[in-house]
Amino acid sequence: MKNIRSLFPIFKEYPNLVYLDSASTTQKPHSVIDAELAFYQKQNANVHRGIYPLAAKATQAYEATREKVKQFLNTPSVKEVIFTSGTTDSVNLVASTFALDRVGEGDEVVISAMEHHANLIPWQQVCLQKGGKLVVVPFDTEGVLSLADFEKAITDRTKLVAVTHVSNTLGTVNPIADMIKIAHSKNVPVFVDAAQSVASHVLDVQALDVDFLAFSGHKLFGPTGVGVLYGKEKWLNSMRPHRFGGEMIRDVTFKRTLFAPIPQKFEAGTPNIAGVVGLGAAIDFVESVGQTVIKKHVDELLKYATNALKNIEGLDIIGQAKEKSGIISFILRGAHPHDVATILGQQEVCIRAGHHCTQPIMDFYELPATVRVSLSVYNDFDDIDKLIKGLKKVQAIFA
Ligand code: PLP
Repeated sequence: MKNIRSLFPIFKEYPNLVYLDSASTTQKPHSVIDAELAFYQKQNANVHRGIYPLAAKATQAYEATREKVKQFLNTPSVKEVIFTSGTTDSVNLVASTFALDRVGEGDEVVISAMEHHANLIPWQQVCLQKGGKLVVVPFDTEGVLSLADFEKAITDRTKLVAVTHVSNTLGTVNPIADMIKIAHSKNVPVFVDAAQSVASHVLDVQALDVDFLAFSGHKLFGPTGVGVLYGKEKWLNSMRPHRFGGEMIRDVTFKRTLFAPIPQKFEAGTPNIAGVVGLGAAIDFVESVGQTVIKKHVDELLKYATNALKNIEGLDIIGQAKEKSGIISFILRGAHPHDVATILGQQEVCIRAGHHCTQPIMDFYELPATVRVSLSVYNDFDDIDKLIKGLKKVQAIFA
């Protein structure tokens, strides 16, 4: 990935930065930063309201991203693209409307045991509120779900399956196409959390036939505070709005309100317009590089890093699925993950330590925390070598 690094201004500011925390948030290319800046400098006005030309320009820029997301995910229609503040917001939208209205006493929502808290707690709260049951599909010590267990977990009480495409802690890539087929064979709709897969996996919602899919802009080289919920038109039309206010209405009197059609029905208030414009630039960036090219690069780095880490005595990799994305969790015996992160940080090697918003995974492995390295388009073999050097330094300190 020659020259890619030069497209990211953060590396001009910190030439020696080894950024291995892209699963948390990706760095932003010039084009994304410039697009946000240009919006404020040249197009700034509120959307969908003004008649004057500048307002029309702002609306056009905002809606152009909806069209880009439509192409990017291959959604049948732009109406099925809802802008949210991120994956968490998208999950909460579906949980507080679709799930809350469908789940009754004794009904079930199926998730996997490797969900990020964002794709766990909202469903758990719905079940608690409605007397439903959260059914959790386990994974094995390698970090792999069994499709047989998944199939068994779906009963005639299942109202929804919510599953992550890629685990943000284990790196496991789940076979979502097979899972959707199994769930649909039992007439159960599926929500896919694509937060960790969107940057490196081509997502075609029609080919997958997925019912809902969510991602965050900031994990796709885009801005924070903006994300997407895709939903099949038939579901979105059947759902009541979850937030009320401007932008989402057709007609209001003191007696009643008629709501706007989708997608506006779910976009109450002034949205993150500049963020949405930045997301459009991020999609352009990803498409200019190509997700398959990004995936190939990350796969090569993953292989190289996994081999190098395996050669370190006293290091255990947590999550050894065959199908893995560019995420490696590990522990270094004798050193707390937070100490590892602190010492590496002093050498400009940015990695994450903690439970990664997946406490049930930590419970499963009986660990308080792991060190997590995550790879992206701007990383190279040299970054991995610096990581390994840093880890050896940590070992020398704790020896
Ligand atoms: N789901 C997964 C798999 C994630 O990795 C994350 C963030 O790390 C989220 C959901 C939540 O994303 P956000 O904080 O952008 O809403």
